[in-house]
Amino acid sequence: MEEVAVVGLGAVGSMALWRLALRGVPVVGFERFGPAHSRGSSHGETRMNKIIGDQPAPYKPLAKRADELWHDLERETGLELVVESGGLVIGPKRGPYVTRARRLAEAQSMPYEEIDAAEVRRRYPAHAVEDGDVALVDPHAGYLRSEDGIRAALTRAEALGAETHFGAAVRLVSDDGADGVLLSIDGVERRFRRVVLSAGAWIPQDLPGAVPVAPVRINATWFRPEGGDVPLDAEHFPVFMRELPDGRIGWGFPQVSDRGVKIGLHGRYGTPVADATANDRPVEAAEVRAISAYVRDAFPGLESLPSTAVPCMVTWAPDETFAIGSPRDWPNVVVMSACSGHGFKYAPASGELAAQLALGEEPYADISAFDLTRFEPEQEARA
Ligand SMILES: Cc1cc2nc3c(=O)[nH]c(=O)nc-3n(C[C@H](O)[C@H](O)[C@H](O)COP(=O)(O)OP(=O)(O)OC[C@H]3O[C@@H](n4cnc5c(N)ncnc54)[C@H](O)[C@@H]3O)c2cc1C
Repeated sequence: MEEVAVVGLGAVGSMALWRLALRGVPVVGFERFGPAHSRGSSHGETRMNKIIGDQPAPYKPLAKRADELWHDLERETGLELVVESGGLVIGPKRGPYVTRARRLAEAQSMPYEEIDAAEVRRRYPAHAVEDGDVALVDPHAGYLRSEDGIRAALTRAEALGAETHFGAAVRLVSDDGADGVLLSIDGVERRFRRVVLSAGAWIPQDLPGAVPVAPVRINATWFRPEGGDVPLDAEHFPVFMRELPDGRIGWGFPQVSDRGVKIGLHGRYGTPVADATANDRPVEAAEVRAISAYVRDAFPGLESLPSTAVPCMVTWAPDETFAIGSPRDWPNVVVMSACSGHGFKYAPASGELAAQLALGEEPYADISAFDLTRFEPEQEARA
């Protein structure tokens, strides 16, 4: 029997592979597509890193560990993965989003500066704000280079001895207790003592006793300036979360490529995905209407039609919280679902947890809020 397999080498799986290989554990990673591909949930240049207001209490230890590990990975590979560009939470002064972010920042003693609309216009001219708007300026927010981060973890894991297989789709056949887990990799069987299942949108929706997770299709969209001289670099257009007076909330990133700035809508929307492998059909005009309207209202200096739009997937748990643990009947399988739209920043911390759980180590954080079986009594009552 082999030692540990990691199924799915996206954001979480690549990091789990690295953390296991670092411990000297013989580990094999399987990925159905190529390294840092664009068919899952982790592509599109950038992902937001910690910004005030986005870290409810159970995620705090993960945020701290992720911060350390992102920097470790940078040191180990010599690559710049974390860009601390600063960030903005913008909206009406008493609006729900700004109010919640301000409250969380104060409760967690996170430093920020609150500026009024005139100052927003002066410092961040691409944002067309109303007189009653404010911005909370977070000096430590920023973004992560998403594909680079995955590639870095894979390269590092391989250098530490991990075996990787790309273009390799895995099926979990059975968990045979002391005899480990039988996997079928494109028809070839291999048996492992423990398996980390970090398959993102492909994590089965009906694992026995587990939180039901479900992927939806949303798109990543980029917008270019409409002529003129709109500064879109990180200093003038840092990462942001922005609530409009009518309640729509969007997020965005500075320009890092000739696609323009990436802007998207926050919240639960999108089309349910029945088959994650078939989510690669091109983005249709109707799918970008809402984000185009948001861009038109918030950024009049940008073209409102995206220069580029690519499909992506977010996987949701009903309570919008990670799902971690072993399903009933699969005690040797550790499911790591970074579900609910904010999993990238924590990926190294999730990978570390996966390694600890797979090896029977004490996890570095209290993960009871993420328990995979937390809905089980409800599910049983419904059955
Ligand atoms: C548009 C968008 C914006 C986002 N913005 C942010 C943000 O700003 N900040 C943030 O922190 N998070 C953000 N998120 C969420 C974050 O990107 C995800 O939580 C995270 O990337 C999920 O990582 P994952 O490893 O679970 O999934 P993935 O990276 O998709 O990895 C799963 C992998 O498993 C592979 N796989 C599946 N089944 C099998 C199989 N049977 N055999 C072998 N391989 C298999 C897949 O091919 C895939 O590579 C965003 C998500 C989207 C879609």
